[in-house]
Amino acid sequence: MSQPAEKLDAMPDEKDMKDIVALCKRRSFIFAASDIYGGINGFWDYGPLGVELKNNLRDYWWKCMVTTPPIGPDGHPVQIVGVDSAIIQNPKAWVASGHVGGFSDPMVDCRETKKRYRADHIVVLQPKDGGEKWIAVMEDDDEFMEKRLKKVAKGKTAADFDQVLLVDLDTSDYAKVLAPDAKEVGTLTEPKEFNLMFETFCGPIQSEDNKAYLRPETAQGIFLNYKNVLDSSRVKMPFGIAQIGKAFRNEVNPRNFIFRSREFEQMEMEWFCHPEDAKKWRDFWFEERMKFWEAIGLAGSNLIKRDHDDDELSHYAKEGLGTADIEYRFPFTAPGFGELEGVAHRCDFDLTQHQEHSKTKLQYLDTERDNEKYIPHVIEPAAGLTRGVLALICEAYTPDPDRPSGVYLNFDPKMAPMKAAILPLTAKDGHPEVAEKLYMELREEFAVDLDIKQNIGKRYARQDEIGTPYCFTIDGQTLEDNTVTARERNTMAQERISLDKVAEYLREKLK
Ligand code: ATP
Repeated sequence: MSQPAEKLDAMPDEKDMKDIVALCKRRSFIFAASDIYGGINGFWDYGPLGVELKNNLRDYWWKCMVTTPPIGPDGHPVQIVGVDSAIIQNPKAWVASGHVGGFSDPMVDCRETKKRYRADHIVVLQPKDGGEKWIAVMEDDDEFMEKRLKKVAKGKTAADFDQVLLVDLDTSDYAKVLAPDAKEVGTLTEPKEFNLMFETFCGPIQSEDNKAYLRPETAQGIFLNYKNVLDSSRVKMPFGIAQIGKAFRNEVNPRNFIFRSREFEQMEMEWFCHPEDAKKWRDFWFEERMKFWEAIGLAGSNLIKRDHDDDELSHYAKEGLGTADIEYRFPFTAPGFGELEGVAHRCDFDLTQHQEHSKTKLQYLDTERDNEKYIPHVIEPAAGLTRGVLALICEAYTPDPDRPSGVYLNFDPKMAPMKAAILPLTAKDGHPEVAEKLYMELREEFAVDLDIKQNIGKRYARQDEIGTPYCFTIDGQTLEDNTVTARERNTMAQERISLDKVAEYLREKLK
């Protein structure tokens, strides 16, 4: 059912983000938030099919983590329980976690255009011939670079420049830099730290005392419940607590569609273990997480592992085994990759911080280890749910000039918003009645779409564009011999099968 990996591997740079974004809107996957007001930068809404796709990814993650967690090295399933914590927590929690003091990015302002940029997301192009004008462009945005070069360095291409990150330049060199949207050279300010947390107030009085934050990650809600879970459920070391939910970051330059947004969803699991076992579990979780993304269709060379460099390590990871990312080759990062998930060794950083700041003991008494008391170490697989949705859409997007729609979404059937469509050939002659009967029979078990009106070619085209793996068509012959046409999305091959075997056919195909 899935495309052979070789065919997909060649594709990402040929896929155009503009076409993908347009399809997402046209086929009700993703809309700009507040679209009728011109949108709001960094916020997105999920339409009827987008929410199904997102729920499928969310539910599959929950199943693989909480309902049927993987088999551990000892041959038994590991233990993981779920939580759903509040988005707003006591602000002291964010002081303890380091977010109030340190959750910031280096920012530069442009004095000419008044625009603000993340210094670590700007690439400076230095002419190889020693030219004095250094051109700043947005990282991972080839289209921007092309347009910018056309405008300010006619006749030159990326190959004529060396590339260096703005953060790696000495600020005295900023005098030579032409900011991404500026006309004059030398308009960038020195980098300043900018906190990414959204602030709000609890209660009617807007004072410093009532200030609170929207969570910038779901992880802390897990640490805050570590003691409650231990005291009230039957988990024992090692074990995990999982959470899926919204996170908010006041990103300076939201971009690349839903890839970097200000409101997004995360799927995070904190795995608590004895410090000595951290390495074993980090390796274990890394393998498991790769398998997860592969199982839903992101296999092949579009998915890679990348170990963080030492200078990228987070405050909590300095002492530990470091972080390894799972990265996907998005069309806008190709031939490079963008982070999908990080598997981090957080050491005992978070629980130690919360223990100190809350004055609540968070040590574990390990009866299996001679009553040793310790703060467990944590391995954290932290994935983006909405970013995962984007990866699924990009991977599935398959231009095909041989079909009327010109494109289809090659979703793994597990992820497809609709598993099948039931299409009466005409809206008369008894076809719709048979179709509705079949629909009522299938809908208890599968997400199916009953689509009655329009000519059949247009309906097939729509199903191809929303990635429905199977279509069943009811026609004149159905009324005579109780057979329907089954059409397979990727091959467009059609075969006739018995009406009463449709459920079995689907069950078999979706296995
Ligand atoms: P970055 O360095 O890109 O800002 P991060 O390394 O800070 O991201 P984490 O804090 O590790 O990201 O968050 C875990 C996951 O959450 C990421 O791998 C990504 O999939 C997702 N994520 C983080 N920030 C965003 C965002 N602004 N929009 C969408 N998804 C995000």
